[in-house]
Amino acid sequence: EAGPIRWSRWLEIDLGALRANLRALKGLLPPETALLPVVKSEAYGHGLVEVARVLAQEGVYGFGISEPEEAFRLRRAGLALPILLLSGFERHWLPEIVQLRLIPAVASVKMLEAVADFTRKKALSLEIHLKLETGMHRLGIAPQEVPRALEILKANPQLQVTGLMTHLAAAENPEDPLTREQIALFEELKRKILSQGLSGIRFFHLANSGGIIFLRGAGGNLVRPGLSLYGAYPSFRARAYVKLKPVMTLKARVLEVKEVPAGGAVGYGPLYRARKRERLALVPVGYDDGYPRALSNKGFAVLRGQRVPLRGAVSMRTLALGVSGLEPPVNPGEEVLLLGGPKEEVPADELAQLAGTISYELFCRLGKSLERRYR
Ligand code: PLP
Repeated sequence: EAGPIRWSRWLEIDLGALRANLRALKGLLPPETALLPVVKSEAYGHGLVEVARVLAQEGVYGFGISEPEEAFRLRRAGLALPILLLSGFERHWLPEIVQLRLIPAVASVKMLEAVADFTRKKALSLEIHLKLETGMHRLGIAPQEVPRALEILKANPQLQVTGLMTHLAAAENPEDPLTREQIALFEELKRKILSQGLSGIRFFHLANSGGIIFLRGAGGNLVRPGLSLYGAYPSFRARAYVKLKPVMTLKARVLEVKEVPAGGAVGYGPLYRARKRERLALVPVGYDDGYPRALSNKGFAVLRGQRVPLRGAVSMRTLALGVSGLEPPVNPGEEVLLLGGPKEEVPADELAQLAGTISYELFCRLGKSLERRYR
C-alpha cells in the first residue's frame, strides 16, 4: 500500500535517551520523591503515547497533561496511572474528567465551586489537587482566597484533596529571588491548609525541570519534569548539574547541491549574497515544518560531522547550507542533522537562542509537523 510521499525530512525519537534522562533526574532527587512527567502538547512534540509508555515502564507516579483529549489517548493506550490535569479546566469538561479518572488541579475558587456543585449533584467523589498562586500570577488560588477555598472543601467532603502544588516562574535562574519567595509562600500556605484538619493530602509539588536540577525538587515530594526529560536544559547553567541526552533529532537528506557565483543572491530577499563563489546544499526543511524562519543566516546544521552555516532565508519548505568547506563535494542524498543528534551535535538550547526562542518552542513546533521515527 502506497503511503503519502513526503520530502526526506523526519524526526528520530530516541526512547533510550528518554529513559536515561529520567534516571539522571531521579539521581538528583531524594529517593522517596515521586515523578509526574509532563507530557502535555504531544509530550513536547515527542509523541504522547510513545513517551508515556516508556516512562510508565520506568516507574513514575503519573502524568501531567493539559486537555482531556490527551488523557483519552493515554487511557485508550491502556495506561492506567494517575493523570493530573495541570492547567485548569472549563466547567463543561467535568463529565469527561470523571469518566477518564483525571485529577484536576483546581486553580481558583470559581473552579472549586464548579467541581463542588457538579460532584454534589451527581453524588460523586473526586480526587483533586489545589494549585496555589505564589507569585507567577498565572493559574492558582491566591493566598487571600485560601480561607474561602477551605470553607468550600469543608462543606464538600466528596472532594478529596490529595495534593498541593504551585508553579515556579524562574526556577531555571537559581538565584532569582522570586523562586525563594515562591517556595516560602508555598510552605506558609501548606502549613495553613494542613492545620485545618484536611486529611489525605499526600503530595506537595512545585518543581519543574529547573526546580529539580537546581533545587532538588524544592522541598516537594513530587516533581513535574518536562523539558529535561526530553534532553534539553532549562538554562545553559543547568549543564553543569546534570548530563542529559537529546531525545529529538531532526534529520533530512540533501535535495540538491548548487554553485553560486561571487555576488550571487541566495533565496528570498535576498537575505544573503555569496562574497565569493560558493557551494550550497539545499535541504527540504522550512518554517512550515516548525524550523524557525528567525534562523535565516543564523542557524547551522551538521553534515559529515562538521558544522555548516545556514545561508539566506529559511523558506517554507527549503533552507540552504554553505558547504564549500566540505571535500569531496557534498552529494544530493547525504544526511544532514538539523537538531539534536546522538552526541548533541546541534544543541536545542543553542539553536533556540539563535532563533530568539526557547527549546520548548522548537520541540513543540517541529513535533507537530514532522514524521516521528522511534528507536
Ligand atoms: N508543571 C507545570 C504546571 C507546567 O505547566 C509545566 C510545563 O510548562 C511543567 C511542570 C514542566 O516544566 P519544564 O518543562 O520546565 O520541566
